[in-house]
Amino acid sequence: MPADYHTHTPLCHHASGDPERYVDAAIAAGLREYGISDHAPVGHGYFDNWRMLYSDLPSYYDWIQRAKDHAAGRLPIRAGLECDWLAGCHSWIEHLRGLRPWDYLIGSVHYLGEWDFDNPHHLSHWDQRNVEEVWSLYWKEYAAMAESQLFEILGHPDLIKKFCHRPDGDLGRFYEPAIEAIAVSGAAIELNTAGWHKPCAEAYPCFDFLELARAAGIPLVISSDAHAPGEVARDFSLAIKLAKAAGYRETILLDRGVKTLEFFE
Ligand code: ZN
Ligand code: FE
Ligand code: FE
Ligand code: ZN
Repeated sequence: MPADYHTHTPLCHHASGDPERYVDAAIAAGLREYGISDHAPVGHGYFDNWRMLYSDLPSYYDWIQRAKDHAAGRLPIRAGLECDWLAGCHSWIEHLRGLRPWDYLIGSVHYLGEWDFDNPHHLSHWDQRNVEEVWSLYWKEYAAMAESQLFEILGHPDLIKKFCHRPDGDLGRFYEPAIEAIAVSGAAIELNTAGWHKPCAEAYPCFDFLELARAAGIPLVISSDAHAPGEVARDFSLAIKLAKAAGYRETILLDRGVKTLEFFE
């Protein structure tokens, strides 16, 4: 099994479980490595109710240490953050980067302006928006996030489909410019299995995007985005099948930003 680098902790207020149980689940699943990447703080104060506060960082470091202590060499534990791509976030991300020797930072587009479009509590916002425009904006932000070169991993590439909002016609017109920007950036994308358990009932990204990504030489990780121990490595066999069908032969491993290839069995 590849590594699972996108997992959460209770510090974000919408995940549960102790580090020991996540590590047990990772070992049981036969993961190559386990990575912790909780929702990073935005600024020194309150930003929204689904991330850790800046003042929670020491607790986050303790959580990571507990995972390492419990793994006790049985499984490499990596650490990063899932950071939000927001207007003017560059200096903040650089600040987070400097806090400790992270193995990777994941960049995620969850916000379009003030709207966290993947938040089920803010679904009604779609009623006032045009799906075509929202998609254009989303992919423009996704490409800009890649171009920023701030992240080793770009999270859940087509999260915008989470609640089944999709424009008509061939969606390649949205994917292609983003693929180009990602390929130039050198960042990896993730195949995030959580989408299979959301209304869209499809991994992030969809197969077409994955195929384009492979053709463009974009590195891949497979992620569960676990918010509970039972979700660690969820659907990884299915994800590997999908990745192989798209032409991938390997995922990548990240150790303090240094990339190596991990070939599928
Ligand atoms: Zn979350
Ligand atoms: Fe996310
Ligand atoms: Fe996440
Ligand atoms: Zn995520």
